[in-house]
Amino acid sequence: MEKLLGEKKRVAVVGGGVAGAVLAKNLQDHADLYLIDPKEYFEIAWAAMRAAVEPSFAERTVINHSEYLPKTHIITSAATHITESEVTTAQGGVVGFDYLVIATGHPGPPEFTRSEKLRQYQAEYDRIKAAKSVLVVGGGPSGVELAAEIIFAFPDKKVTLVHKGPRLLEFVGEKAGKKALNWLTSKKVEVILGQSVNLDSGSNGVYETSGGERIHADCHFLCIGQPSASSWLKETCLSNSLDARGRLMVDNKFKVKGHDNIFAIGDITDIPELKQGYLAQGHAAIVAKNLKLLMKGQSESKLSTYKPASPFALVSLGKKEGVAQMMCLTLSGRVPGMIKSGDLFVGMTRKNLGLKSDAK
Ligand SMILES: Cc1cc2nc3c(=O)[nH]c(=O)nc-3n(C[C@H](O)[C@H](O)[C@H](O)COP(=O)(O)OP(=O)(O)OC[C@H]3O[C@@H](n4cnc5c(N)ncnc54)[C@H](O)[C@@H]3O)c2cc1C
Repeated sequence: MEKLLGEKKRVAVVGGGVAGAVLAKNLQDHADLYLIDPKEYFEIAWAAMRAAVEPSFAERTVINHSEYLPKTHIITSAATHITESEVTTAQGGVVGFDYLVIATGHPGPPEFTRSEKLRQYQAEYDRIKAAKSVLVVGGGPSGVELAAEIIFAFPDKKVTLVHKGPRLLEFVGEKAGKKALNWLTSKKVEVILGQSVNLDSGSNGVYETSGGERIHADCHFLCIGQPSASSWLKETCLSNSLDARGRLMVDNKFKVKGHDNIFAIGDITDIPELKQGYLAQGHAAIVAKNLKLLMKGQSESKLSTYKPASPFALVSLGKKEGVAQMMCLTLSGRVPGMIKSGDLFVGMTRKNLGLKSDAK
């Protein structure tokens, strides 16, 4: 009986992006914790564009889960099914839980180990370095940040960015998109809007666009938005909890609607706010606090609630400048650059996981 009372509750966290990583870090001393992720490492997703032009930076952005989660059972496999009490993984493992937290924002990178991931960044760097001209496809935050990183690191390269929408950075206001466009064109990046690229046409280094333009480029990078990683939930007890965009519907305590012991945090949720890593970390902090209370037997009324955040987003433009959207205000240049662009919050994120700012 004593043993039963002293036993820790089992918490399964599915997804090892920033939301799942921070949650697991906060809970590992308080629960019998399982982190389920198809790869062995956590990657600081918003630093990937810098990692492609600076391999030594990549070393700090790819962190083995075991480094910051010494007290967690790490299951390196994708979750493929859940019930109200168990998660099944692609390798056929079954993890029982008292509480489940789903944090599978987007499909992660295909590389399984940290060294594979770092080799992939090195290969991207080698490709960019060897190229005279680079084509970036997509004008959302990834495409804009990658084009900016390339032209900042290699000012002599010919960089072309093609975006099928009418303007850059459609997830924030028009002014922010215009400022990013002005910055890129001032650095001689060619920006083509309202057209798509036929990537199959590029085998001889000439890519055709839907508008009949021909772009010479030695290599290309595809930077299109990633879908939510929720298709694996369609045949589960959460099938009715997914909205039309494949996001999990949650209440203001991050409980998945209709379920008492299943929570969701980060980009996978339907919370009406910009999808941002710093907000995902905020979700994780609240759910960790609430789960600690629930595991101590506290009542629902003691739980903290969450209010969707006002729009705030920062897009880096190389290492020194950026563009920021704060509610209706748009700022560009060195001030947003000072906040984000130097280190891309990598040191801060590492510290939140209890690690040193550098990778040594
Ligand atoms: C270019 C760019 C710049 C950005 N800049 C910023 C910024 O300046 N500040 C900021 O706060 N945010 C920024 N963001 C947004 C930020 O990256 C995301 O909001 C954040 O990464 C979301 O975290 P997450 O943990 O919810 O999801 P993700 O980071 O998508 O992680 C999901 C995890 O789930 C795992 N997974 C997927 N499917 C399964 C499965 N079936 N089973 C198990 N695991 C699974 C994946 O492997 C991955 O590890 C930026 C994004 C981009 C693209």
